[in-house]
Amino acid sequence: MDTPKTLTERKKDIQFLMKYAVPKDEVETADALLEKYDADIIALNLLHSFYIHLPEGTDDSVNGLRLLKRRQGVFLLCVSTGSGINYLYVVNNEAAHILGTLAEGIIDRELLDFFGYADNREVLALTKEPEKLQEYKPYTADSNLCPSCHAAVGEFHTLGCPVEICPWCSGQLTYCNCRFTRLDIESMDKLAQIEKLRELLEEVGRIAFKKEHAPGYPTMDEE
Ligand SMILES: [Zn+2]
Ligand SMILES: [Zn+2]
Repeated sequence: MDTPKTLTERKKDIQFLMKYAVPKDEVETADALLEKYDADIIALNLLHSFYIHLPEGTDDSVNGLRLLKRRQGVFLLCVSTGSGINYLYVVNNEAAHILGTLAEGIIDRELLDFFGYADNREVLALTKEPEKLQEYKPYTADSNLCPSCHAAVGEFHTLGCPVEICPWCSGQLTYCNCRFTRLDIESMDKLAQIEKLRELLEEVGRIAFKKEHAPGYPTMDEE
């Protein structure tokens, strides 16, 4: 997995890739789109993935992002390009994956279930007229999304999100010691341990994201 990058580093990497990928007459539009989304890790991950593995292997650029669905920090986005082809991507705060062209929709059963689609026909009905899909709005502090994993208010965080609150001690789940004491281990490095932790957390009840959990959220009773 990539080491975590700051938004600025991510943007610089994308700008470097764009120099080779974007056709001359599309540079202005492509640059404007990058500027628009440069504080949004979801969009930056998507753009990075697009420009590093150009879907058709030929020069192209992104000129629009539209949102189909968002659930627990996972975004289903439509990407429109200079070449006129629309693509579907699944993105979170760590990585972006292309599913294929928008015209193909979603084949993967698990993914259809995750986003709550009955079948691919339902997706294709929505994507027939991509210009009617809602525009993807860049992240702001008012987005009602966790600033780290982008889960929405009322949804559970991606496990490992530093904003998630520990149900045992009310501290920060990734910083307190509860995960070690509850699992009776010294360090957490095995997938099985993470799964066991997830089970224990679900038993006691995970704490869903609320706006006041976000760092820097103004509180009434500041000391
Ligand atoms: Zn989160
Ligand atoms: Zn704790």
